[in-house]
Amino acid sequence: MKNFCRNLPIRHKLMAFALLTSCAALLLTATAFVTVEVLGFRDSAVEKSAALARILANNSQAALLFEDISAAEALLQSLEAQHNVFFARIHDKQFVPFASYRPTNRASLPPEEWLEDALLCESSGPPGLHEGRHCFTARALCYVQPILFDGEFLGTIQILTDLSDLQTRLIGFGAGSLGVLFLSLLLAFVLAARLQRVISQPVLSLAATMEDISRSRDYRVRMPRESNDELGTLMDGFNHMLEQIEARDRQLEDHQQNLEMQVRRRTEEITQTHAALSETVDALRQAKDAAEAANRAKSTFLANLSHEIRTPMVGILGMSDLLLKSDLDPRQRQLADTVQNSGESLLGILDDLLDVAKIEAGRLTLTEGAFDPCRLMEDAVRLFEVSCQTKGLRLSWNISPETPRRLRGDGGRLRQILLNLVGNAVKFTSEGEIGVRLAPLALDLESCRLRLEVSDTGIGIETEAQERIFEAFAQADNSTSRRFGGSGLGLAIVRQLVQLMGGTIELTSNVGQGTTFVCELPFAVAPGEPAIGQSSNAKDEAAAQALPDNQGKRILLAEDNPTTQMLVRLILEPRKLSLRVAEDGIQALAALEQETFDLILMDCQMPGMDGFEVTRRLRRTGSRTPVVALTANLQRSFRDTCLQAGMNDFLGKPFRQTELLAVLERWLDKENPGEST
Ligand code: ADP
Repeated sequence: MKNFCRNLPIRHKLMAFALLTSCAALLLTATAFVTVEVLGFRDSAVEKSAALARILANNSQAALLFEDISAAEALLQSLEAQHNVFFARIHDKQFVPFASYRPTNRASLPPEEWLEDALLCESSGPPGLHEGRHCFTARALCYVQPILFDGEFLGTIQILTDLSDLQTRLIGFGAGSLGVLFLSLLLAFVLAARLQRVISQPVLSLAATMEDISRSRDYRVRMPRESNDELGTLMDGFNHMLEQIEARDRQLEDHQQNLEMQVRRRTEEITQTHAALSETVDALRQAKDAAEAANRAKSTFLANLSHEIRTPMVGILGMSDLLLKSDLDPRQRQLADTVQNSGESLLGILDDLLDVAKIEAGRLTLTEGAFDPCRLMEDAVRLFEVSCQTKGLRLSWNISPETPRRLRGDGGRLRQILLNLVGNAVKFTSEGEIGVRLAPLALDLESCRLRLEVSDTGIGIETEAQERIFEAFAQADNSTSRRFGGSGLGLAIVRQLVQLMGGTIELTSNVGQGTTFVCELPFAVAPGEPAIGQSSNAKDEAAAQALPDNQGKRILLAEDNPTTQMLVRLILEPRKLSLRVAEDGIQALAALEQETFDLILMDCQMPGMDGFEVTRRLRRTGSRTPVVALTANLQRSFRDTCLQAGMNDFLGKPFRQTELLAVLERWLDKENPGEST
């Protein structure tokens, strides 16, 4: 029912409510009328019966006193005139029926059961009453009146009245009421059908408008206000809500447009940025390619430069070396000395430049071999004895007796570190002392951590410059290079070497008081291994003395550079060694076909056929003649290439007389040929 009501259209609801209300009101009214009518009818019936009973009671006193039944019946017979009395009876004081009346002149009498009902109803009342009393059955009224004489109870008179009239009236009334009800409902329906529009019409049009708006999304529509009641307020509220939605819609549209514009702008910006980025990436890639190409070009340039500079250096160093060993007057000796020292410095700078190039390319590598650190240090430090004497400096070195005599590592690079640090100490000290100390920090059977200390009493280094001086091309201040010279590469190389070896380097310095560099370097202990890298002096002397036994041996020099040719000739001829020179690879091969040689000195880079190809062809013939490569390329990889091509040894340009003699001595002694280093 609830659901049914909920689903009804509002106008039907309104009409239903109106009809129900009218119906209820009419029913209530009709019920009230019926009740009043019934009560009034009953009261009047009771009053009438009471009046009649009192009259009959008064008139029947004598008949009861004298027990005159016929008089009593005659009296009751007078009720014939009362058409709705259908039974009357007089009882004596013992409640025994004395006389009774039933109408005879009626067309129809009420059925017998009415009489029984009425008598039953009366008998249920209390006996011996002194006043009249009554009771109702469904269709009859029973009234009982006591008969008194001077206050003495003589008996009762009982009158039964038919109430059919009441029913007839009630049926008429009911029919009338139904008619009125029907007419009222009809009227109410007509009125409700018209009046419901006052409420339902605005609500329905509001609903229809809402549906339209939600379908079309057109929020400009407004509802007219047609009344000043709640419906008017509802319309106003609805219109206000529409205004707000419309305003929000506009704002939203504005925002959306704004957002679209922003997105478009951002997209354009991103596209531009992306294009710029792509350009930058391209430019960077090109720059990277160019940098890599430049780097490659630099490496090639440095390798070529090294070759180009080292080759003439053969002339400078080799010739000055020979010159110094000849008879010279003091002035000539001084000049030749200067030429040789300058050549040595130039070679040092060249080596440093090559090292830096290797560091930048990440190609600086260490070699490994056994060496004697004490000997190495002594030899290196002794090189500075003359320069210290010249400057008036004391040079002292101290090697702890616990220092192991055989270590495994890159002794050559340790020497380079030492030479650099001591060289700087000598360079930046004008008076006082240079001290070098070597001691093992931690030593066990397998490893040793060496502590190398180089101190001076020189100019010192400002605190701010102390970190900078380890960078390539950096000096403590610009005046340094003017005053003392130098390239600013030494310490950069030293730090890189120390780091590669897994060690540390630190310095303490006070301006005007001096500087101390401390290196700690780990090495493996190699007690049984023979040390390589003897001092050059020792090798030189050994070579110089051994050569006389090799007189007459035949040597082929394959070399296109006339200076080198001349230098080798100048060194070999006094030692009675036979030298044949081939200008290039082809000539060398021809000479090898014609003659047998005890040793071949082979320049690697020659026009036409290079030294590698000549060696490979020689080895293919089965010849085991020792071949010593002559090259300005000192890289380890290059040495490996030489060995792979079948060469036996390696002599870097520029070489000293003693170095060449040492190589000759090693390879000419066929009984006991030297090892390749
Ligand atoms: P170079 O000595 O060729 O200039 P280095 O890299 O060896 O290059 O040294 C860099 C700088 O560190 C030097 O120019 C100098 O200013 C400073 N320096 C190095 N060693 C010392 C030292 N023992 N005393 C004072 N200054 C030093």
